[in-house]
Amino acid sequence: MSATDNKVRVRIAPSPTGDPHVGTAYIALFNYAFAKKYGGDFILRIEDTDQVRAKSSSEALILESLRWLGLEWDEGPDKGGPYGPYRQSERTAIYREHAEILLKKGHAYRCFCSNDRLTELRRQQRLQGLPTGYDRFCRSLGEGEVQARMAAGEGHVIRLMMPTEGVTKFVDEARGELEFENHRLDDQVLLKSDGFPTYHLANVVDDRLMRITHVIRAEEWISSTPKHVILYQAFGWPQPKWCHMPLLRNADRSKISKRKNPVSLSYYRRAGILPEALINFLGLMGWSFGNDVEVFTVKQMMEKFEFAGINLGGPVFDLVKLTWMNQTYMHKMDDSRFVSYLRDEIFSPSYLKALKPLVLERMSRFEQFVDHNGFFFSGALDYKNLEIIPKGKTPEELSLMLGQLVELLDELYDWHAPQIQALIEKHKDEIKWKPKDYFLTLRMIATGRKDSPPLFDTLAVLGREMVRFRIRDYVNHLASVTPLS
Ligand code: GLU
Repeated sequence: MSATDNKVRVRIAPSPTGDPHVGTAYIALFNYAFAKKYGGDFILRIEDTDQVRAKSSSEALILESLRWLGLEWDEGPDKGGPYGPYRQSERTAIYREHAEILLKKGHAYRCFCSNDRLTELRRQQRLQGLPTGYDRFCRSLGEGEVQARMAAGEGHVIRLMMPTEGVTKFVDEARGELEFENHRLDDQVLLKSDGFPTYHLANVVDDRLMRITHVIRAEEWISSTPKHVILYQAFGWPQPKWCHMPLLRNADRSKISKRKNPVSLSYYRRAGILPEALINFLGLMGWSFGNDVEVFTVKQMMEKFEFAGINLGGPVFDLVKLTWMNQTYMHKMDDSRFVSYLRDEIFSPSYLKALKPLVLERMSRFEQFVDHNGFFFSGALDYKNLEIIPKGKTPEELSLMLGQLVELLDELYDWHAPQIQALIEKHKDEIKWKPKDYFLTLRMIATGRKDSPPLFDTLAVLGREMVRFRIRDYVNHLASVTPLS
């Protein structure tokens, strides 16, 4: 074995399906700290095989956010590396080839079952109170029939032949040995009928081909790991080491979700959280530095990190604590960082330039700038002195309308005035609100004022994060002043 074979290689493998998530940064941080502690490599791989949900704008935001946090990768889609490509959609031939290998080895089979049959099967299983899963119908098809159906061009998937007896075990570095009964594991689809791989196949093949030595990922993937272990065995490959980090939780201990906490890294950046504070805070989640030390740098974390220090009790993503951490770092800033942060993040030239056409209209002296335009720079607004609920509408109706709007805006990645306008006009027409009611309400919520520069341009400049945050914040405010029925 050469020296490089021993090199620690870890990866973060986000799916680019939405906003860059704090959970991605949390897992990236632990991978990064572990890799750097051992002089290893940290790889960024984009798992974009879900063609319906994957978005290139989301990938770009993930890269930008991880870089903002200082979690720079050694190999990745933008910088290449010896085991590329690092975007799964560019590796489909590799997965097909590997599915064929498993077919040849007798560890996989072609399944021709239609969606209708699978739906009916699940319905029957539910009716009988049985666990739902594939009944392995095609596992016993003869080779002749398989060939004939393929020759006839019949669509099919490739499934992994799971062992039906015994147990699959693996050691989790944070939890010890875990054991799963094989008969409970479904014959997983590896390759879909469109020729795209599922998560399981692509993830295992890539981890192997990219020489990953330690898979450090979130707890939610534990149930996939026995399937991955079986895949490694089927290929005849040695397994990496496994470590599942405890899930981040909301204050009520439920799995962190955007309904209860902002989860987008872009939000925290926009809210003026310093990257070093967020990183330190994430480092406290699921791990302790020891001796009650709470404030530490990534470098200090790298020196101390051991799997043994992982705390399995669900870490709470506590915004009060994050704010305290941020304040601690703000007070530690030297003059030049203070100035450069304000200049680069809050009053950045690109933001000021975007504001120019919106604010000049209402200004005749620069001294008016701060007073007129505070809402472009602040976070939560004060709604006390505004009558926001339109005449003839109830708080419930308004809350419902805003809830729908936030959901729609969540999906709008092309954040420019014409696209925002099209989405909002469509929603207004669907719910049959008068333009004046809809637009004035939204203007007041987004800006805290009755008069502001043109609405859609203002929303465009404020950014997705701030607009969504303010709408949610207002809905909470509404619920607190008029308890909704
Ligand atoms: N694509 C998966 C995700 O979105 C990767 C999970 C893993 O690390 O194996 O997190």
